[in-house]
Amino acid sequence: MIRYFVLYYKRLGGDRLNFEGFDFFENDENLKQRIESLYSQNRQPHAIVIEGAVEQRCEKLATFLTMRAVCRAENKPCGKCEQCIKAREQAHPDIYYAQPEKKSQIYSIEQMRSIIENASIRPNEADIKIFVFRSAEKRLTPVVQNSFLKLLEEPPQNCLFLLLCQNSRGLLNTVLSRCTVIKIKGEPNFYEDSLDLAVEVAEGTIAPSEWQLLAALSQFSDRKKADETLAILTEIFRDCIAVVNGIDTIMNKQLAEKLSKRITTGMALQLVEVTEIARRKIPQNVNMELLSAFLCGEYRRIIWQR
Ligand SMILES: [Zn+2]
Repeated sequence: MIRYFVLYYKRLGGDRLNFEGFDFFENDENLKQRIESLYSQNRQPHAIVIEGAVEQRCEKLATFLTMRAVCRAENKPCGKCEQCIKAREQAHPDIYYAQPEKKSQIYSIEQMRSIIENASIRPNEADIKIFVFRSAEKRLTPVVQNSFLKLLEEPPQNCLFLLLCQNSRGLLNTVLSRCTVIKIKGEPNFYEDSLDLAVEVAEGTIAPSEWQLLAALSQFSDRKKADETLAILTEIFRDCIAVVNGIDTIMNKQLAEKLSKRITTGMALQLVEVTEIARRKIPQNVNMELLSAFLCGEYRRIIWQR
């Protein structure tokens, strides 16, 4: 009897997940099981918070989920169909990546309004519309989260909202309670190391003498750690902009306030740009000592005009 039910259920189109080709899941059996249970019994979560220390891992899971949602094959995501490919390349007309405002780096209330409007319109190609919010806890201010709440309370049919964040505590409880939260285990030790180093570098940038900044940057020998540190550093400089603009949802308020005494919004924008340039050089096999020297010079030039 049970067996019959299982067969019947599968014929009804119960989701079968395909993890093949997604090596991202290989070392994380817990995550795999979590995703499987999420989609078991043909459930369709309408809002998922993906929480993880490492941004790229959250991003990969988001891509997997968007592909799964639009794929037309039996085992989803197949990774080969047109829908999967468009989703992977972030070129699918029904998958919308919210873009933060250039200056403030937050998702504006106007943008949220247009998303709310858009969510009730039928999808183009897929059977579902997906809205992705990166760095949700930092870019969605409490006011914008509140306007989003109405959408979560009465979600339109066939919509999926993905909220990516490093720390879900930055989201309002009322929002969190209406979402399914998936935590990705990062490499916490590694992350804490990078976090400490990022703070050290940030504090070095506003120190009057150069040696403190150089001492911090000289710890950039490990590429992976440097990459993570620079990613966090970008967020720290963005927090600086947020604090100047009176936005509350930031990672380390104390540090941001300290930095903003010396760093203007204009400088912070340049710091973000330079940090991102440096970060892009890491996978291109740049010499790490040269990279440290480059950053030291640029940071000093931007903040101290020397
Ligand atoms: Zn597919």
